[in-house]
Amino acid sequence: MGAVVRVRHTSFVDVAARVTRPDHMIEWRGDEIVGVGPDDGGALIDGDIEGAGLYALPGLIDCHVHVTSISADEWADSGHPASYVAAHATRTLAATLRRGFTTVRDAGGADPGLARALGEGVITGPRLFTCGKALSQTGGHGDLRPRGRELWDPHPDVPGIGRITDGPDAIVRAVREQVRRGATFVKLMLSGGVTSPADRMDGVQFSDDEVRAAVSEAARLGVYCAGHAYTPEAVHRAIELGVRTIEHGNLITAASAALLAARGVFLVPTMATYEVLGTRGPELGLSPQSVQKLTAVGGHAVEALRLAQEAGVRIAFGTDLLGDMSTAQNLEFALRAQVQPSWDVLASATLVGADLLGETGRLGVLAPGAAADLLLCRADPGQDVRVLADPQKALATVVSRGLVHRV
Ligand code: ZN
Ligand code: ZN
Repeated sequence: MGAVVRVRHTSFVDVAARVTRPDHMIEWRGDEIVGVGPDDGGALIDGDIEGAGLYALPGLIDCHVHVTSISADEWADSGHPASYVAAHATRTLAATLRRGFTTVRDAGGADPGLARALGEGVITGPRLFTCGKALSQTGGHGDLRPRGRELWDPHPDVPGIGRITDGPDAIVRAVREQVRRGATFVKLMLSGGVTSPADRMDGVQFSDDEVRAAVSEAARLGVYCAGHAYTPEAVHRAIELGVRTIEHGNLITAASAALLAARGVFLVPTMATYEVLGTRGPELGLSPQSVQKLTAVGGHAVEALRLAQEAGVRIAFGTDLLGDMSTAQNLEFALRAQVQPSWDVLASATLVGADLLGETGRLGVLAPGAAADLLLCRADPGQDVRVLADPQKALATVVSRGLVHRV
């Protein structure tokens, strides 16, 4: 079973109760929390971690990352050998953990082999939930071919965020293939996007029958569908057809927010990516037409978050950063804090993320029976969540799967 490890005299950031409790003790054995409560006042024993002056909170959850992206030029990325991409992903995953994220959901591109290597301790990084390749129609957001190219290599081990599939029958088969390879959810490209060369931002992608086929097949297999969507048309239709999470949602209206809330659909805003692409896009490989598309959605990110917050939508934490942009992952905390109170931002990155992943009570919470993922922070993020925007300054220790990492 292994020894019990304890953090002593720490302040426990209780996200569910929205309060920070002083002089607490958190105990875990292996990868499981076994105790959270007031410190027993006993002497420090061997193996105890002195937590005085530090704030203990659950490890963070980012529900929209792309750990296999190397740059913002996804077509160029797909030309690299898979081994090279895996080596980059290994570095990205280790850095992600140092930023305090102990769980991430990859929204397209990550092979379940990475999740296995992480779980076995072959490489260091967060828990990884994968969808394999995102499903896209021909000419949709996952079709990265330059307009003058016809060839597309459909081999599943070719790096890339998406795969092309058209027609309900083909989509059912694609869902089955992703799940066979280890996907824990299905990602659907349901509207135009910034990085795709051939689609319009206001276009709605896949027919209703295609979306219905994917949603019902996913449900039969015990997984859910996530939908990339920006416009009210794309978002409303996705909700009506049974998609469980809306990714981005920048152009939503008050009516969209009300519908999201009424149906209990999760919204995963990804504000950091617009911020970073807006300032560094071209240097990172973003094409001129993508820069144009970016300006159509980037400016609406704050307003969309405000509408969702006011409507009581279940808002998860996402970033959608590609390649080196992921160094800006924690900027999302500062961007969310423009609209949401600190406790709500914290809940997004812990409790809500766990609910979205179907891991309520196991992830995103410090309580007996939960996974041993926690952070020791030098300031109270419940008071001001923006401290997490600078992880090197804020984080003293990251505990992941029960293992202690000094930042
Ligand atoms: Zn997307
Ligand atoms: Zn994405």
